[in-house]
Amino acid sequence: YLRAGKIPHIWCPGCGYGIIMKSVIRAVDSLGWDKDKLVFTSGIGCASRLPGYIDANTLHTTHGRSLAFATGVKMAKPELNVIALGGDGDMTAIGGNHFIHACRRNIDITCLVFNNYIYGMTGGQYSPTTPKGSRATTAPYGNSDNQFDIAKLAIGAGATFVARSTTYHAVPMEKLIKQAFEHKGFSVVEIIAGCPTGYGRKNKLASPSAMIEWQKDHSVNKAQWEKMTDEEKAGKFPIGVLHQESRPEFIEAYDANVGLS
Ligand code: SF4
Repeated sequence: YLRAGKIPHIWCPGCGYGIIMKSVIRAVDSLGWDKDKLVFTSGIGCASRLPGYIDANTLHTTHGRSLAFATGVKMAKPELNVIALGGDGDMTAIGGNHFIHACRRNIDITCLVFNNYIYGMTGGQYSPTTPKGSRATTAPYGNSDNQFDIAKLAIGAGATFVARSTTYHAVPMEKLIKQAFEHKGFSVVEIIAGCPTGYGRKNKLASPSAMIEWQKDHSVNKAQWEKMTDEEKAGKFPIGVLHQESRPEFIEAYDANVGLS
């Protein structure tokens, strides 16, 4: 019963975000969640448009503040299922501070980070995940910065469930998102997506299919990854559930601490 809304999306042709939206809708649907008890929050950017295209409770906020608003919603109404969305810039640059503290706090929210390695909507500027050497409108000779590994950042900051997928892996992605929803605590799913008009064009991967091929060729499932040598891992990344642990959830721990439970 969760479905796309009545407003047609305005993502570019070939954008990977429609694939993610479908996986999110299917994951929610498979859990039978009541859409009236479901809240999506988002910041600013192409990823953050998604809540506008879904028929549920949505909160489109300011740049980088998706998790701050999601935390407020969850604290006020813990019975709601809260999903915070954002792109790589939204979550690891403008909202980077909120991201690391949400990870260590372990509040029961699912954070979906759409990683297309660029600021797509605002004009192709390089982001914290743009690979070193890749071109962007603000790096015409190639990016000089080292890139963040979002999954490693989340694990290091204390997230209790961390997974990664790509838009090539639409069905496994749906299962990972469902697992994240079911996890008690702060869960992060990084989803590698193609931005053929922003990142792709500047880096000679202009077609959507070239970007999907790139995801297929550079991703390795976690079990296989663990058997690979450092040399074999170069230029590739693992996908699947990368980390899961059980730790007291923030609101429950807070209530116990102040004597409310
Ligand atoms: Fe998608 Fe990139 Fe277009 Fe944004 S700029 S809608 S991320 S293809």
